[in-house]
Amino acid sequence: METPGSQSSLHRANLERVVRAVRMAGSLTQAEIARTTGLSAATVSNIVRELKDGGTVEVTPTSAGGRRARAVSLSDDAGTVVGVDFGHSHLRVAVGNLAHQVLAEEAEPIDVDASAGEGFDRAEQLVKRLIAETGVSPDKVVGVGLGVPGPIDAATGVLGSSSILPGWAGTNPREELASRLSVPVHVDNDANLGALGEQVWGNGRGAADLAYIKVASGVGAGLVINGQIYRGPGGTAGEIGHITLDESGPVCRCGNRGCLETFTAARYVLPLLHSTHGTDLTMARVVRLASEGDPGCRRVIVDVGRHVGSGVANLCNLLNPSRVVLGGDLAEAGDLVLDPIRDSVARYAIPSAARQLTVAPGTLGGRAEVLGALALVLSEMDETRGLGR
Ligand SMILES: [Zn+2]
Repeated sequence: METPGSQSSLHRANLERVVRAVRMAGSLTQAEIARTTGLSAATVSNIVRELKDGGTVEVTPTSAGGRRARAVSLSDDAGTVVGVDFGHSHLRVAVGNLAHQVLAEEAEPIDVDASAGEGFDRAEQLVKRLIAETGVSPDKVVGVGLGVPGPIDAATGVLGSSSILPGWAGTNPREELASRLSVPVHVDNDANLGALGEQVWGNGRGAADLAYIKVASGVGAGLVINGQIYRGPGGTAGEIGHITLDESGPVCRCGNRGCLETFTAARYVLPLLHSTHGTDLTMARVVRLASEGDPGCRRVIVDVGRHVGSGVANLCNLLNPSRVVLGGDLAEAGDLVLDPIRDSVARYAIPSAARQLTVAPGTLGGRAEVLGALALVLSEMDETRGLGR
């Protein structure tokens, strides 16, 4: 037993801080580890040597700011992580290692809502096949991150609303997958995973305060505050889709009127184009037509941007994030949608909050959630597992 506050428990805590910092960044120089952890350069140097001798980390020569440096990453074989992302119409699985390398990834179309049982069957098969294809031993898997398209209580694994995925009512996706795969499963909603994905792998890198906005069949925000996902006690933080924009607007599925979602989500926006463009439309197609110059589609995208911007302005006043990353199909519209978001933020947010904000497109596209699921395992895994003891 180590006594708290003793020399050995302090050393252990420092080891864990270094391993965690490297694990979340993928690779860091020793100077960056010192900055991230607040430990002295000498302490970091000693710890890195110890971790290298124990086979936990690998050290490779690199350069930082024109000077020679040593890049520290976790060993390729320190462990395997798996991400599973259920969208409304797809299942995507990725297998990666603790050094942030994606070893295999695959997506298949599936009507997730139709049958939870079939969804779990397909996920189990795809995970097992991809692990086999990468050639890593299944007992190296330290955890699975699972994304679902709706609010979920990360503590209990229970879906927050039965109206989002009616076909999944009464199931506990986390327990279901954990029993099938015999590994710990961590679960979160798609917006939180998108935020984690962009923070660790994409356009949110380096931002400690970040909001990831996903506009799809609903509108959600994943909030990173002080480097951590903020979920709230019931897991429903970031449901910005139900901010009221117009008291007398269309009735929303939540029962209110004029929610942000009723001006931006596909089910409300696409019908605006039915009389001119036909009923066989998707948001991705509208974005494509808009980028080819179609005036009606451009107008719809710009209006969606303005409305999303109103929601972002509210977020800005409440949380003062430094970066907003727009995900989902809408991000493919680039400045056509980002400029109206920026205009609304400039108009509606308090100037000091608006000035500090960068609005950027996600760089991970449809992969944001599954990579976020990998990042969720990296952030939730037991610190001591990376230490090789
Ligand atoms: Zn609503």
